[in-house]
Amino acid sequence: MFDYVIVGAGFAGCVLAERLASRRKGNILLIEKRSHIGGNCYDHYDDQGILVHKYGPHLFHTSNAEVFHYLSRFTDWIEYQHRVLAVVDGRKIPLPFNLDSLHRVFPASMARSLENKLIGHYGFDVKVPILELRKQADEELKYLADFIYNKIFLNYTVKQWACSPEEISPEVTARVPVFVSRDDRYFQDKYQVIPRHGYTRLFENLIDHPDIKLMLNTDYREIVRLDADSHRIRCFGHPFEGQLIHTGMIDELFDHRFGELPYRSLKFQFEHLAGDRFQEVTTVNYPQDYDFTRITEFKHITGQRVPGTTIVREYPQDYDRLDARRNIPYYPVFQEENLERYRRYAEFARRFPNLTLVGRLAEYRYFDMDDIVARALEVFQDRFGNGA
Ligand code: FAD
Ligand code: UDP
Repeated sequence: MFDYVIVGAGFAGCVLAERLASRRKGNILLIEKRSHIGGNCYDHYDDQGILVHKYGPHLFHTSNAEVFHYLSRFTDWIEYQHRVLAVVDGRKIPLPFNLDSLHRVFPASMARSLENKLIGHYGFDVKVPILELRKQADEELKYLADFIYNKIFLNYTVKQWACSPEEISPEVTARVPVFVSRDDRYFQDKYQVIPRHGYTRLFENLIDHPDIKLMLNTDYREIVRLDADSHRIRCFGHPFEGQLIHTGMIDELFDHRFGELPYRSLKFQFEHLAGDRFQEVTTVNYPQDYDFTRITEFKHITGQRVPGTTIVREYPQDYDRLDARRNIPYYPVFQEENLERYRRYAEFARRFPNLTLVGRLAEYRYFDMDDIVARALEVFQDRFGNGA
């Protein structure tokens, strides 16, 4: 019998498996329904030998030194600073919208005037969420805010979330603020890197321990049962006295007893092209036209020198757990009624003394990779650390 059963071999599950294996005694079973580890961060070489991210582009960035140094034990890194352009009225401009973007879309005198206003109002090197900028009383800045909102945020957000920016938590659009700066990088974190040999190798190293047994192609529901009345857990048909760590969907775990939590899904369309490069930077966003939101070209991330290039287009779509074309829950949908429903699940989960929920799906949160590693380390310390 196992002391720990972990569901999901993404960052949440693998970091907890690693911590438990190296700091606590006991056998760990890691259950993953896909045919591979890594969760949504999984990468692999395509038929043309290009390292691609199967579930969408993953760029590691953090200012959390503890997370960076922890992961550095399992991988070497390549320095990589992410740059994104957005096609606005047929022209490619830096995103986040910054002072250079301003000069690309407006005539020189108007751009200068807006630049002075922005700096006078907010200072230099300051990030202003678009929904904040729209509250501006100043006529010129209000004009600018409406321009950016309409050309960059409105339609992209409708594509991505099927609702307007106002109908989703303000945190979401604040991830891509207007940046009163000439810094054209997508992130400003202290550490911006990607694993030298890919994410999947990093995950292999994380769980390379004799006490960790991995079961791929296995849905945990074949093995684990939760009894909603007694709050006890059964594993392989026997009462389970160990700890269950769940990183999958919280609503699925409790048979949707409070209703389904909504998610957004994505369809990825990969294409291999003969030319050496397809576009100027890794990612180009299309906020105005097309049904896809962005195109990413992987060779920009790795700097691989191989013939040809591979790109991916991302088409957002509704999630439907019963439809194989759209049953991957990529994003929780941050609206108050959904969060309220999530809280009912989280409260119910607390009745199970040997259950821990951690991860993007289990906590219904928009965790980036560094957030989830930090969260897994924190959960380990709180629930399983020396003092626990
Ligand atoms: P996951 O990676 O989703 O892992 C959960 C695992 O549980 C999965 O492997 C799943 O198959 C498994 N599972 C679920 N249900 C079951 C079941 N019933 N039985 C068995 N196994 C099950 N973050 C960044 O920092 N930078 C980025 O550039 C970035 N880009 C992203 C792009 C996209 C398109 C998406 C969707 C996310 C992006 N992220 C990015 C976020 C990143 O993917 C997450 O932070 C990370 O994957 C969260 O890890 P996790 O372990 O919580 O979840
Ligand atoms: N966004 C937008 N236009 C863009 C880029 C982003 O409207 O060109 C909004 C959109 O609502 C998106 C959010 O900002 O969901 C966060 O963007 P980010 O690039 O962080 O999305 P992720 O990479 O997490 O999908």
